[in-house]
Amino acid sequence: MHSVRIVKSSRKSISLQVTPSGEVIARAPKFMPDILIKAFVKKQERWIEAHLKKVSLYPKRISHTYSTGDEFWYLGERISLTIGPYKKIEVRSGKLYFPEILLFRIKRELTDFYIKKARDIITNEVEDFTHKMHTTYKDISFSDTKSQWGRCTHDNRLQFSWKLVMSPLLTIRYVVIHELAHTLEKNHSRAFWSKVRQFIPSYRQQIKWLKENGRSLTV
Ligand SMILES: [Zn+2]
Repeated sequence: MHSVRIVKSSRKSISLQVTPSGEVIARAPKFMPDILIKAFVKKQERWIEAHLKKVSLYPKRISHTYSTGDEFWYLGERISLTIGPYKKIEVRSGKLYFPEILLFRIKRELTDFYIKKARDIITNEVEDFTHKMHTTYKDISFSDTKSQWGRCTHDNRLQFSWKLVMSPLLTIRYVVIHELAHTLEKNHSRAFWSKVRQFIPSYRQQIKWLKENGRSLTV
């Protein structure tokens, strides 16, 4: 049997979770005896097995060395960090040029760089598809939303993770279309997905890309 972390709280039912890092967590009501929880987990063995197999296929979160040759994602490409006497951060022919005088705060600088690119590229896509989909939105913001790539609030404010700019343009486009479709349909109904498909027929491929690579989109 797998090692399972048991988390008890005031919840009413028991649930199982396999985290992206391969940890199995059972969430159970406060007063449920461990023996019952373990029996429940044992019954779910095949489900756990299948999920552990799935997460083991995903690339692990990349930890960076921040030295020349280190690799980052940019618009779906792996770009190679090149540190030198440059004036500004720049992406050119597969390379990420980085000024050596800013090395002491490289993570901050790269984050700012990606936020700026996200703002340009994603806003541009949003404008384009707002027009094509005959819809409107209230405003747009960028943050590091860990669990979601995009979000559309009930009053049509759009939020995107700036890390999205590391994924291919078509994947960015899918997330933009997904959120704009929510300005028209506030659910994931058939009508919603048919709207998404209408504007990006390859949407399943884009979802897959994010699933497989999402966790390696780091600075
Ligand atoms: Zn949605």
